[in-house]
Order: sequence, then C-alpha cells, then structure tokens
Amino acid sequence: MNCDVLVVGASPSGIAAATAAARSGAEVILLDRNMGGSFDHPANTFFDGMFRRAGLAVERDYVLHDLEGMRIVSPGGCAVEIPAAGRFIDRGRFDALYLERAEGAGVELLRGVSRSAPLAGSGRRVETDAGEIGARVVIDASGVDGLMARKEGLSPLKHPEDVAWAAEAVVELAGLGEERRFEYFLGSVSPGWKATFSPAGGDSATLGVFVRGHGRDVSPFLDRFVETFKKYKSADYDAREMKIVSINRGGDAIAALPGEIVADSLMATGAAAGMSGIAYAIRAGTIAGDVAARAAASGDVSKKGLSGYVRLWRREFGLEYRMGRASLLALGEMADEEIDRLALGLAKRDLHLSGSFARKGLSAGIALARARPRTILPLIRGLLQG
Ligand SMILES: Cc1cc2nc3c(=O)[nH]c(=O)nc-3n(C[C@H](O)[C@H](O)[C@H](O)COP(=O)(O)OP(=O)(O)OC[C@H]3O[C@@H](n4cnc5c(N)ncnc54)[C@H](O)[C@@H]3O)c2cc1C
Repeated sequence: MNCDVLVVGASPSGIAAATAAARSGAEVILLDRNMGGSFDHPANTFFDGMFRRAGLAVERDYVLHDLEGMRIVSPGGCAVEIPAAGRFIDRGRFDALYLERAEGAGVELLRGVSRSAPLAGSGRRVETDAGEIGARVVIDASGVDGLMARKEGLSPLKHPEDVAWAAEAVVELAGLGEERRFEYFLGSVSPGWKATFSPAGGDSATLGVFVRGHGRDVSPFLDRFVETFKKYKSADYDAREMKIVSINRGGDAIAALPGEIVADSLMATGAAAGMSGIAYAIRAGTIAGDVAARAAASGDVSKKGLSGYVRLWRREFGLEYRMGRASLLALGEMADEEIDRLALGLAKRDLHLSGSFARKGLSAGIALARARPRTILPLIRGLLQG
C-alpha cells in the first residue's frame, strides 16, 4: 500500500488531518486499531466558544444535552458562575459523522496497529499489522502517548511530566443529568487541575478527576471526589442512590504544550502533540493535514518543508496554550484556603467573559489581579516560562 499521507489515529485531530489532506488533493489512508469497531474516546463535553475559536459550527446531530454555563466551585464551596453555551455530546455519533465526511473526501479507512515508521528515501515505510504502508508524510494522531513520534526520536510534548491523568465515571441518578451547568471543583480534591461534573441529560452524567503530579493511577482521587460530590448534592438528591456505570481513563495534555512535532516526513498532532481538547484538536489536525498535502505535492517533505504547520499553529493558538499552562501552574501552587479567598473575591464581581479570546483573557486577568494580587506573579512567571 502506498499513499501521500498516512494518518495514525482516528482521533478528532486525526480524522480532521486526513479529511483536510484529502480535500487538498492528497491520497490519504487513515489507520486506527479500532476502525470499524467501537472507539473508546472519553471526551464528551465542549463549550461553543471553543468550537467558534477553532472555526467549527456546532451540529445538532450529536448533541445529547445543552448546557447554559459553568460553575467553578472552590474547596470551601464558594461558587463562581460563568454563563456560556455548551454541549454534552454522543461521541459515537460525533466520530461517525466526521469519519463519514473523511470517507466522502476520499480518505481510505483502515483497521490496524502501527508499530514504527523508519525513513525510506523521501518518505517513510510504516509497519502495521495490516501490512506495510509507504507514505510521503506520516501524521501521528495516536493520542497523548504519541507512540509513533516518540519511536522516531521526537519529544512531541514539551512538558510530558505535566500531563493531567484522568479517571471519569459515567454515573446514573434520577434527574441528575437534567442540570444545565458544567461544574469545576478546584483544589486538593484534584491537585494540579480540576474535578468535573458534566450533566448528560436524563439520569446520566459524568464525574471526573484530572490530576497533575500524582502518576497515572488517579483512582483514589476519583473515589474521594465521588463521595465529596454526593455530599455537595445531598440537598437536591438522594445521592446514596447514585450508580457508577463505567469508568474511562486517560491522559489530558492541556498543560504539556507542543515540543518537537515535525521531522522529515513526520508530524504529530492533537493530544500526541500537546494540543488538548476536541475542538482545538480538530483545528490543529486540519492545519497539519493541509500542510502535509501541500508538502507531498511540492515534493519537499523535509522537516523544513513541513514546518509551516508549527508556524501556523503557533500563530493561532500559541499564546492561548501558554496562558492555559501558566494558569494551571499558578493554580497548582495555591492552597485550598487561597483558592477559597480567590473564589470569594471573584464571586463578588460580575464576570462577563465574552468577546475575543484576548478580551476574555484580559478581563479574567484583571478580575484575578483585583481579587487576589498575589495570583498574578505565578501567572506571569508561568507565561514567560512557556
Ligand atoms: C477522561 C478524559 C476526558 C476528557 N474529556 C474531554 C472533554 O469533555 N472535552 C474535551 O474537549 N476534551 C476532553 N479530553 C481531552 C481529549 O480527549 C483530547 O484532548 C482530544 O480527544 C484529543 O485527543 P486526540 O484526538 O489527539 O487522541 P485520542 O482521542 O486519544 O485518540 C487516539 C486514537 O489513536 C488510536 N491509536 C493509538 N495508538 C495507535 C496505533 N499504534 N495504531 C493505530 N491506532 C492507534 C486510538 O485507537 C485512538 O482512536 C478528555 C481526556 C480524558 C483523558
């Protein structure tokens, strides 16, 4: 088998990369170990602002439940409300829709596990259990472990130690899924980032912990969060009746940032390249696929020929990801009491987080600085470190 562009991983970034490359005229194969079976992608919630920022439109086909906003809850229970339209989605339908579009664009879907992709002239020969595939460009979209890129000697995550390891329980409790707010719980309940409640409609919801700095097994944090959550909701529900249906696990590269994501005939995208979040992964994959197709057509698939991808991505998202990382580092340094005081200060002010990303960032920064001036120093330090 030969093609211009081989994409490994039918992830949001991988499907987008394959579709964009095919639409730009390349012959494309999209390979996934689960192709044709059921994917186990855990991400299920987004806010419309993220989709708009990534140039995408929300489509009703895959929406299970509409959200009206988010509530940020401090360790002591102080809540900051932020209005923002969001969606809980049916991941099966979402993936199927985007895969259908990839096929419509001419992408060949293939089931198989890829192992390595050594250089072979101007291109790579990829060993897979579906046979050997020759490709001018290989795009690694295989998720947070980014095995392809790593095997070829790249360090696609700049701060791999800062991946947040997650465990998310799908739970059932009468009426719980009908709530309209996504909730973030901050502090020692989930060190380094967040614990989350995402209502999915009806009786269904997810409860998750995303923890930095405590290894991959974060089950003890999930167990504790489930108990904390039951107490938190005890006035509204008989939370003893809550059932855990299943548990998803994985890593979220939100604070890891892209490292080396391009080599000769090789690119990494999505979580494999430290580009976290469904919407942002789709946009990153689209940029990667487009650049890969142009490079294959021009005959220059060298690292230099593919590096336009890095430039374009940085121009659109570089600052935002660095601010996100800086915020998480600042948060990770704060004790529960400090987060409580910060939340109290913020709750007294009306947060109008609308407009462009820069405007939202600035409003949030000013609110933070007013509420708790000490917060601003670790934020700036994190931003400068990148
Ligand atoms: C528990 C959890 C919950 C999350 N919730 C959200 C959320 O609600 N909203 C949000 O925006 N983000 C969420 N995220 C983050 C989000 O999942 C990712 O940032 C996003 O999906 C990008 O990942 P990806 O598309 O690059 O890769 P993935 O979704 O990890 O997909 C990788 C694909 O590659 C395939 N693959 C891997 N290795 C090989 C191989 N060797 N050969 C062939 N195929 C291979 C896998 O089968 C898989 O299909 C969550 C993350 C976790 C861990």
